[in-house]
Amino acid sequence: MPKEIRGIVVGSRNAAVGFPRAIEILRGGGSALEAAIAAVKAVEDDLCDQGVGTGGIPNILGEVELDASVMDGRTLAAGAVGALKHYPHPIEVARRIMECTPHVMLVGEGAELFARTHGFQPANLLTPEAEAIWRAVIHGERRTEHNVYEDRYQLYMSVVQRWRELLHRELFGTTNVIVRDLAGNIACAVSTSGWGFKWPGRLGDSPIIGAGNYADNRYGAAACTGRGEMAIRCATAHSVVMYLRFGFTLEDALRQAMLDLRALDDPYAEADTVMNIVAMDRDGNVSAASTSPEATYVVQTIDMETYEERPRLHVPLRE
Ligand code: ASP
Repeated sequence: MPKEIRGIVVGSRNAAVGFPRAIEILRGGGSALEAAIAAVKAVEDDLCDQGVGTGGIPNILGEVELDASVMDGRTLAAGAVGALKHYPHPIEVARRIMECTPHVMLVGEGAELFARTHGFQPANLLTPEAEAIWRAVIHGERRTEHNVYEDRYQLYMSVVQRWRELLHRELFGTTNVIVRDLAGNIACAVSTSGWGFKWPGRLGDSPIIGAGNYADNRYGAAACTGRGEMAIRCATAHSVVMYLRFGFTLEDALRQAMLDLRALDDPYAEADTVMNIVAMDRDGNVSAASTSPEATYVVQTIDMETYEERPRLHVPLRE
């Protein structure tokens, strides 16, 4: 019988800022769901993180749009929110959608209406730093003055063409946290401001259950960061859990889900930072994979004083 690890938190590197709170909740007997959400919320509040919550890089129009999702591996309940403007904690909104509605996902104006009518407080999400990055790109591009929509489209396309250079330096970033609590339940929470300079309304993998987030107590959980369009097309988070269900080891499940991405013909997928996955099996063993040779992830059990940073399994996108 494999040894079970209860009271453990694993996540993307930037999630470490939320680990103290998650560990405190677990030590107090709190649930995996509670702990995962608290950890992600701390990253949403981290103004230095330009890929998550307040401080995120805005869309092409200069508006910060947030995506988040949560999944409870005990019940397979899930909640997600997409393209949410003006509300700093999309992960809490996603949770409320899961708990208070018959729906899984709300987006845009409907999500905003939901947040407003459920007592969430609006705030300014655009920090001066994020705005400065947006302005530098906008002013650096040539624009025609004839048609405002055409201008925006041209600008968007020029930013998109530079995607390879900018990936994971300025334009991307997500946080994901998977927790197993003392009762053995698993939960996964994901939050992002998505692709900086994205087209308004663009959703990546983070709010899509099965793409950027999946959790099932019976097999394990997985969450992605990177080029969301690829994780959507391969249902990457769900694939990892499905491979675990088929009896793969955690490392093999991760490797296979990464190899699946090689089938995608994606002109924007040249950068070696294009996909990252963190995962946990049903016994609480954790691992992570990346197309980058340098990527790391973080992990902490309730017995550890602080988190540990570990290298990810390197699976290049191309052979
Ligand atoms: N996966 C996110 C998205 O596509 C971005 C990221 O992880 O960097 O929106």
